[in-house]
Amino acid sequence: MATSARRCPEAVSETVSRTMSRIRGRDTGPEMAVRRGLWARGVRGYRVNVKGLPGRPDVVFRKRRVAVFIHGCFWHRCPHCKRRSPKAHADYWGPKLDRNVERDREALVKLEADGWTAVVVWECEVKRSLDDVLDRIMGAVARPPEG
Ligand SMILES: [Zn+2]
Repeated sequence: MATSARRCPEAVSETVSRTMSRIRGRDTGPEMAVRRGLWARGVRGYRVNVKGLPGRPDVVFRKRRVAVFIHGCFWHRCPHCKRRSPKAHADYWGPKLDRNVERDREALVKLEADGWTAVVVWECEVKRSLDDVLDRIMGAVARPPEG
């Protein structure tokens, strides 16, 4: 009786935490596609969702100092597909997305100042050609780090 009473909240919180991680945008479609693609090509030795690096890169090759960001086109204002913020609630979305873009830019500046190579991958690129995206990442990883 006591044990089952204790187990129940854990089960609930496990479900909640899984839902929360989906809400936070981790393990999203494009990111998983890239990770699966890297794995399929035999690429190993990367870490995912690394904290403590500017911008929290999605995939990190620490030894090679390569940080990969997989950006949703809407949230990060993709320059390729130029999706506009929705007209409705533009007052809300405009500044919010501007802040995202600004944060992304700052993260890249910081990483590069620390000798990292940052690779920015857009959701639409993953959809168009995962192979091109993987080539680009592997190209960055293959280059020896500077300095
Ligand atoms: Zn795009």
